Amino acid sequence: MTQKIFIGGEWRLGRGDTTVSRFPADGSVNAEFPAASLDDVEDAISAADAAWRTPDWADRQPHQRAEVLYRVSDLIMARQEELARLQTRDNGKPLAETRALVASAAGTARYVAAACETLEGELPTQRNADFMTFSTYEPLGVIAAITPWNSPIASEMQKIAPALAGGNAVILKPAEATPLAALKLAELFEEAGLPKGLLSVLPGRGRIIGDALVRDPRVRKISFTGGTSTGRHLAHIAADKLIGASLELGGKSPTIICEDADLEQAVRGVVYGIFSSGGQACIAGSRLFIHESQYDAVLERLLAVTRDLRVGHPETDGVHIGPLISEAHRDSVAAYVDQARAEGARILTGGQAPSDPALVSGSYYLPTVIDGLKPDSAVCREEIFGPVLVVLPYRDEADLIAQANDSVYGLASGIWTADYRRAWHLARKLEAGTVWINTYKKFSIATPFGGYKESGLGREKGRQGIQAYMQQKSIYLGLDSAPIGWSR
Ligand code: ADP
Repeated sequence: MTQKIFIGGEWRLGRGDTTVSRFPADGSVNAEFPAASLDDVEDAISAADAAWRTPDWADRQPHQRAEVLYRVSDLIMARQEELARLQTRDNGKPLAETRALVASAAGTARYVAAACETLEGELPTQRNADFMTFSTYEPLGVIAAITPWNSPIASEMQKIAPALAGGNAVILKPAEATPLAALKLAELFEEAGLPKGLLSVLPGRGRIIGDALVRDPRVRKISFTGGTSTGRHLAHIAADKLIGASLELGGKSPTIICEDADLEQAVRGVVYGIFSSGGQACIAGSRLFIHESQYDAVLERLLAVTRDLRVGHPETDGVHIGPLISEAHRDSVAAYVDQARAEGARILTGGQAPSDPALVSGSYYLPTVIDGLKPDSAVCREEIFGPVLVVLPYRDEADLIAQANDSVYGLASGIWTADYRRAWHLARKLEAGTVWINTYKKFSIATPFGGYKESGLGREKGRQGIQAYMQQKSIYLGLDSAPIGWSR
């Protein structure tokens, strides 16, 4: 049966180009179906624009809105294995990772539901004899959510849940490569009783479907996760329309091993930070700084742990690294490594596809460690989004901070040290939206997330995450019964 898409609360065949979801482990086709057309975008937006204004949603008490999210959270966990497998088919991440992403989506829905129930306006308390003021939060309207392929269900819930909790309608444009988990999520929202029209899921080409969506005047906020160049393009559109854009973009995050760090803890943390998800994570710790006095010793342990990682079929238990999302993406990762080689860098491990015959039909690439690069090399500066770690020595703290911050990006960073004062000091100096100290790539839904510099704009998650999808209205209530005296 051909996969239908979710437009304004109805399952319909898309009227656009054919879209294909492939399993990156062997290139086989998971699904091939017509994606959304521009007419489908129009239908979804008009349904959304009506839905968020209907009393059925607009007049619901926060706890009644929250009920839908609690139900969705339960439905997700009841189908965790199915959703994880679906996502592994879509993007090739090992099952252990996709199970965690599904649990994260369920946790997000639950957290946002609880935050929604306790959402409050503000009563400014400045004393005034003749009036008092309230500040209430109101929905923005129709939200365009555009997501990448690397963590579909988790990043999608991070947008859908707070937008709905804030009383908005959401139109989700998932990445071309990963439409299936997003469509399944729509099924669960429907089953949880979300009124029609509040959610649409429109698979299709970013440049056509995504573009039409964000340009429509009825769309009042863009919530985007993806590459920096696409994010910048969307920010221009948002500026023209004078609407908000929340942009969660790329990174080239530094991780630092100080001389006093617990070596084993630091090395295992760094390896996890760069090589989990095959490095296909905006927060990947892709630049490692090691103090020059310990450079060789740390590197030796790092290489030993890296060489032990199991690269293999993502549905096999115990695999650390599955295939990259596509052949084309693997080619782009390999091109960076080739460039490093040509520039005279040392490829200390990896630097090629695995030779195992069982893996030749998938887009696999070995975890790769490179050093000896000049700091201005593109390999040092650009986001590779693959299993490639660049290692750099540092002399002292001033040199470290200068090198670590010498990047257009500022998404995340990691510090490994036994000295909490030093950790605090470095954490304050690093230009990054998230700093992990003696841990890496761990997430709390209660903690705001977003980038400095070209890594993004705005923050997701946390209790303020719902207000990011709302606008404040200030209401003045006159208390004086006499006329305003001015015109006397
Ligand atoms: P990546 O696939 O490397 O994350 P993108 O940032 O381009 O790269 O993709 C993230 C999401 O943005 C995808 O859903 C993609 O379809 C969408 N997208 C790409 N270009 C545009 C565009 N011009 N307008 C709207 N959405 C876009």
